[in-house]
Amino acid sequence: MNPSDSAAEAAVSRLTIDLGAVRRNYRRLLERLGGVACAGVVKADGYGLGAERVAPALWAEGCRVFFVATLDEAVRLRPVVPDATVCCLNGLLPGTEAVFDEHRIVPVLNALEQIARWRTFGGRSGRQLPAILHVDTGMNRLGLGDDEWTSVLETPGVLDGIDWLYLISHLASADDPDDPMNARQLAGFQQIRQCLPRRMPASFANSSGIFLGSGYHFDLARPGIALYGGRPNARGPNPLECPIRIEGRILQVRTVPASTGVGYGSSWTSPRESRIATVAAGYADGYLRSLSGVGTVALGGRSCPVVGRVSMDLITVDVTDAPPAGATPGAFVEVLGPTVTPDDAADVAGTIGYELLTSLGRRYVRHYVESPADDRLA
Ligand SMILES: *Cc1c(COP(=O)(O)O)cnc(C)c1O
Repeated sequence: MNPSDSAAEAAVSRLTIDLGAVRRNYRRLLERLGGVACAGVVKADGYGLGAERVAPALWAEGCRVFFVATLDEAVRLRPVVPDATVCCLNGLLPGTEAVFDEHRIVPVLNALEQIARWRTFGGRSGRQLPAILHVDTGMNRLGLGDDEWTSVLETPGVLDGIDWLYLISHLASADDPDDPMNARQLAGFQQIRQCLPRRMPASFANSSGIFLGSGYHFDLARPGIALYGGRPNARGPNPLECPIRIEGRILQVRTVPASTGVGYGSSWTSPRESRIATVAAGYADGYLRSLSGVGTVALGGRSCPVVGRVSMDLITVDVTDAPPAGATPGAFVEVLGPTVTPDDAADVAGTIGYELLTSLGRRYVRHYVESPADDRLA
């Protein structure tokens, strides 16, 4: 988009998405994986960044397998990466078989009943259709449970008639490397793999799982959040790059005397004479209301506190200590980005970076850029 071609655009806040950073994050994960293949999880519109832009960027880095949650997401992704394997995590709902087949979507089969239905559907045209087998190892969300798995072992031929691409399972607590659940799930997955009546490649690790060590890698990793800069765990520096930057415009700056209430409910009262900048970003843009009084934004390289309640379209920021030149109407402040990352904001808001990213509003003007390694968004 040509930034000068729209006067309206100049008036609103912007969201810049650096596909170069996404690509570098993918490369960093590949390095960790030391030769193991790496899929891209682009469900929920690429965690809010735009699956139609993220997926081709990953394809250019050699990514050949993509996971989405819903069939609808899969159908929309299909023409974007025409030669990729597109997999649908939510399974095979009754009546959707022909849609999967028509668009060459690979269902992640989560139950015996789905396996039987997919085999029967393919069998009608004499084909063995591709699928992924999902087994539950402790998450208790999706995948064959213990009883179904036992029945697989006791029923010869139950896996016949399908072209199995992968056996997968999902970690429940990989973001905490000390949680004994990780090793328990790993042992369970290995056992299931060994008992399989037929060999198939395996996929186990999400983003955090990649950082648990090579024992968790198997044949294909399935990272989502790490591609988008989310930290793999709460400990140590984050080796990944934040590819997004949200900038809100300052609409007005006012000086209030000490002991003045600001915003809805006057939930914040100035402890001193303060300069307050009103910025065009609110919960309708995905700036969570739970960031009221605890969020920070970056202005001229300085972190400034969000004071008072986050409202639908606006936040109020204490810019008393910011360089006065930057705190003027029309100037942009970084609401979320490399300086105040989604993880940082999520920590104080009592949520996770995933929720902040997938809540990104539709009102921003979106700019996609592709920075080279030495020209980051920072
Ligand atoms: C969402 C999801 C992933 C990706 O998880 P991240 O924590 O974002 O890396 C991988 N596998 C499954 C089954 C998922 O649902």
